[in-house]
Amino acid sequence: MTNYKNFKIETGADGIAVVTWNMPDKSMNVLTVEVMTELDQIIDQVVADAAIKGAVITSGKDTFSGGADLTMMQEMLARFKKEQKQDADKAVQNLFDNVGRMTGLYRKLETCGKPWVSAINGTCMGGALELSLACHGRVVSDAEGVKLALPEVKVGLFPGAGGTQRVPRLVNQQDALQMMTTGSSLTAARAKGMGLVHEVAPAKKLVEAAKKMIRNGLKPVQPWDEKGFKLPGGAIYSAAGANLWPAATAILRRETSGNYPAALTILKCVYEGLLVPFDTGLKIEQRYFTHILQTTEAQSMIRSLFVSLQELNKGARRPADIKPTKFKKIGVIGAGFMGAGIAYVTAKAGIPVVLIDRSLEAAEKGKAHSADLIAKEMQKGRMTAEDKDKLLALITPSADYAALDGADLVIEAVFEDRGVKQAATEQAEAVLGQNAIFASNTSTLPITGLAKVSQRPKNFIGLHFFSPVDKMMLVEVIMGKKTGEKALATALDYVRAIKKTPIVVNDTRGFYVNRCVLRYMSEAYNMLVEGVPPAMIENAAKMAGMPVGPLALNDETAIDLSQKILKATLADLGDKAVDPRHVELVNTLVDKYDRLGRKNGKGFYDYPARPAKKHLWPELSTLYPQQDADKVDVEVLKERFLVTIALEAARVMEEGIVTDPREADVGSILAFGFAPYTGGTLSYIDGMGAKAFVKLAKKLQKDYGAQFKAPKLLTDMAESGETFYQRFNPYKAADKAA
Ligand code: NAD
Repeated sequence: MTNYKNFKIETGADGIAVVTWNMPDKSMNVLTVEVMTELDQIIDQVVADAAIKGAVITSGKDTFSGGADLTMMQEMLARFKKEQKQDADKAVQNLFDNVGRMTGLYRKLETCGKPWVSAINGTCMGGALELSLACHGRVVSDAEGVKLALPEVKVGLFPGAGGTQRVPRLVNQQDALQMMTTGSSLTAARAKGMGLVHEVAPAKKLVEAAKKMIRNGLKPVQPWDEKGFKLPGGAIYSAAGANLWPAATAILRRETSGNYPAALTILKCVYEGLLVPFDTGLKIEQRYFTHILQTTEAQSMIRSLFVSLQELNKGARRPADIKPTKFKKIGVIGAGFMGAGIAYVTAKAGIPVVLIDRSLEAAEKGKAHSADLIAKEMQKGRMTAEDKDKLLALITPSADYAALDGADLVIEAVFEDRGVKQAATEQAEAVLGQNAIFASNTSTLPITGLAKVSQRPKNFIGLHFFSPVDKMMLVEVIMGKKTGEKALATALDYVRAIKKTPIVVNDTRGFYVNRCVLRYMSEAYNMLVEGVPPAMIENAAKMAGMPVGPLALNDETAIDLSQKILKATLADLGDKAVDPRHVELVNTLVDKYDRLGRKNGKGFYDYPARPAKKHLWPELSTLYPQQDADKVDVEVLKERFLVTIALEAARVMEEGIVTDPREADVGSILAFGFAPYTGGTLSYIDGMGAKAFVKLAKKLQKDYGAQFKAPKLLTDMAESGETFYQRFNPYKAADKAA
């Protein structure tokens, strides 16, 4: 019997081969070229061996598989781009053939003449689910947390290994479209209910259940290869089809504003593919996939949302020569809105936390926040009573700073006031060990300034969380002038421990994220003052791909906070640093109308009691003479939002505040949802090229003002034709070593 690196095959006396996928050098199985080659050989072996009646494929790991290794796609594209320079037609043909490799392999499996059953023992995603769909039978484990999904659309791709053809031939088209265009996960029960899998079985009896299907005479022929096959839920040209398709295209448009070519392509593949025989459908899918892979959207999303995100999570920016910290105890000072959230995510990671406030009562109130969050998780079935007890036992509320003794890291989240922060720093340092790291969660005060009162400024760092802490996946790690490498390493170890994504940012007013967010809101103020109807402002932002309109966002962060920031900027940087029309707008809202945002139920929006929905404050449009909506160019509004934010990101790079383009891109998507189809702020610029971007910025500058002035960095890049990923190449050291 052949030996495989990634699979083990055991054939029992019953003639059923159990193929166990277990990659030796990975924590999760992924589809690579090597895996495909071995699978190809295994299919041949199963067919050739007369003693084998059928095969069960399962995984030797907790999960079944995460799907295709997307770096394989990147390599395929890199090869394509190289070949394109020599022979464009041949390059496309090669890309088309490469794209079709997985499709061909799965088709070979399902037509090999012997029955295959996939025993899905754990989460099964993307290309691995497509492999399972090519099997004649599918049994899923009933173990908690097992998920099935085709999430390709989330990285700008779509299920291109037969997924768009098999899913709608197994389940009704509406469910198929929903599953693939959203990329959302299905539980085993839901997958069974839809008809995507045949059986749900207890984890321990999974392989046995799969074998039983074969023993019971499972036919090695897929439904679509049988004569007289009928689509579940009806054909495209049927009453059901006529009901579904016009609505499906409209819903997709509403959800994506046409920004995600891959999502639209799923509709095309299903619609066109169901009108033709199965093999032709596969060819249609292959052709579209070849096209989608070449789009800027797919390339940027794969890079930021898969490759860079993973690299940052694995500590790409961590100083390598410092030993990882195993956290025995973390201190959180200030059990308010943020501190309570930080205590929760820390305890959730299994780390003991001391939560300090000015009184025990206040500290206990902070701990109660964790109990509330857990109750919500329990309602959703995501946590058990046992998890609750364990988590709550890890949080010790206290009013005594002495309880911080022995902490490896302390995170300060007291009031945003220099004096209060100074006192907290001094009291903490009095009990902390020499090597303990002290982090501030300040959002506006530069870390270098706060560190001045510290006895150990090299151990002083910023850990800037976003609210709500339990949901927001990004943490900005702020380096003060004197912050040392050990503090950085510890901070990054901590962010990793709580399973969030860190970006490393050098100290500056507003750091990275808030500088960008302020630009977003500030452009909305400009539009309001110009008399752009408020609803258009909000809708244009969403059409540009932003998840929350700028006015809604400002309501969440509070308008009186904007007022405070404007006042502080005026005081620190002088009159020229703020637009007096913005000050007037914010003062009118806060001082005249007491509109502070969501927190007092009155902001740019009104917040009527539930179940009524929030709506824009009607009088907002009476504050300025309104333009005729028909004359406002919504495309220009969209550009203004994306360009003003991207320009700020470019300035941040020019100033050396952020130094790695991966961090600027990933940070912008995780923190404020910067149009994910662009791949983030810098990829947005790279995607159109610095030259085109500078031209666009110049036009906007002429029409709308100096906020659109491109920094020198960008005009230089426009001239040289460089991208951010070339100029600030994050892989330079690795490239040199190679
Ligand atoms: P908050 O007012 O909800 O909480 C502050 C807590 O600190 C209060 O419970 C207060 O009793 C406690 N406190 C004050 N002085 C103390 C002392 N000397 N010792 C111990 N506890 C003390 O404020 P918040 O919104 O949680 O903000 C806290 C920090 O986080 C601020 O620096 C803020 O800028 C920053 N931040 C806030 C947000 C946000 O969205 N609210 C986001 C990022 C960062």
